[in-house]
Amino acid sequence: MQLTNLNVAAEQVDFRQAVLRGLGEQYGLFFPDTLPQLDIEALLQLPFVERSQQVLGALLADELGQDKVDALVANAFNFPLQLCAAKEQQYCLELFHGPTLAFKDFGARFLAQCLSAFAGDKPLTILTATSGDTGAAVADAFYGLANINVVVLYPDGGISELQEKMFCTLGDNIRTVAVDGSFDDCQQLVKQAFSDPDLKQKYGLTSANSINIARLLAQICYYFEAIAQLPADKRNQAVISVPSGNFGNLTAGLIGKAMGLPIKRFVAATNLNDTVPRYLETGNWQPQAVHNTLSNAMDVTSPNNWPRVEVLCQRQGWPLSSIASVCIDEQQTAAQMKLLDAGGYRSEPHAAVASAALEQFLQPGEVGVFLGTAHPAKFKESVEDILKVKLTLPAPLAAVADKPLLSSKLSADFDQFADYLQQQLNG
Ligand SMILES: *Cc1c(COP(=O)(O)O)cnc(C)c1O
Repeated sequence: MQLTNLNVAAEQVDFRQAVLRGLGEQYGLFFPDTLPQLDIEALLQLPFVERSQQVLGALLADELGQDKVDALVANAFNFPLQLCAAKEQQYCLELFHGPTLAFKDFGARFLAQCLSAFAGDKPLTILTATSGDTGAAVADAFYGLANINVVVLYPDGGISELQEKMFCTLGDNIRTVAVDGSFDDCQQLVKQAFSDPDLKQKYGLTSANSINIARLLAQICYYFEAIAQLPADKRNQAVISVPSGNFGNLTAGLIGKAMGLPIKRFVAATNLNDTVPRYLETGNWQPQAVHNTLSNAMDVTSPNNWPRVEVLCQRQGWPLSSIASVCIDEQQTAAQMKLLDAGGYRSEPHAAVASAALEQFLQPGEVGVFLGTAHPAKFKESVEDILKVKLTLPAPLAAVADKPLLSSKLSADFDQFADYLQQQLNG
């Protein structure tokens, strides 16, 4: 597969190079030059892992060989996913049955497989910023792997207690930094580190954010599963609502559609951090100060996948206005959680944002699917508070709930962060 840096057209790479580099020169994102058209009807008949091997094989087999792709996929996607009826006209695609209880396990596990296959003997440092769930998924996927260090930055106080426990209690090759700032500040530190050729070279820096194309490609696969699990007569009427922060998830869905998957429309749902819905309405890209919300994994005001969305839409001839986008506030989020719960479906704030947005755009005869991106227990405090219920912790959370946090605390200052990297990684 050939990919091009969206900021520097001269930087053309294959998949292996794109995965190892993470981000290209001048902060440029890599994007595939062409996307294959698939025989969708045949694919929809297959079970998830086999189908995913075909879908990713269509992109990667020319470079890696189909056997290699098959192995990467089988090792990465070793947990279930399901489509559940959530309310009238709406299904939830539950993507949170992996080891860290969020959809990020799909991308992080596939990326870990790719990186350990590609790295050889060269030590690598995975540097990543998290708004909560990426940190856990990446830490879990890379924990204990030889020759790979992981450094995760997150906004101090900006993620839930249990989210923090999941990745800041591991130790070993996993280092975590609580930054005195927002997720966007963390993302900026990561970007700056990547733009420093010395640091990048010296520590073999690579990114595990949705900047990294491997994560994004992995996420295409579950959109196929959503369509495959819908009743056959509804398959051409699917509207998919994506709870969005960095817009990696939406990008993956759009790529699936570009490969032929019959998704009628997308809804890009945000919380109060509404840079994208405002942009689609006014044409002005104006990130504002971050709002801390119930759906904190979406507290992102400068979503770094947006250039990929634009390029893809442009190439496909899809007007940006074909993506419905809306901001769901805190009250609407809580109300939607209650509404779903009253109908027998227990949800959490991120999925509720997507469900509430879907409600505004669904037309008669259509069928809505919202993505269930995290397990309700991961947001125990707000779910218990809003729904007046007691949740029991699933095993992966119960195992870490009482462990001590091992994070370092730093300001959002780059020089201080560079010193930290030197200290930690020179030994
Ligand atoms: C990361 C995350 C999102 C946002 O996904 P993006 O790909 O960044 O748009 C939504 N919900 C949860 C629970 C997440 O962890």
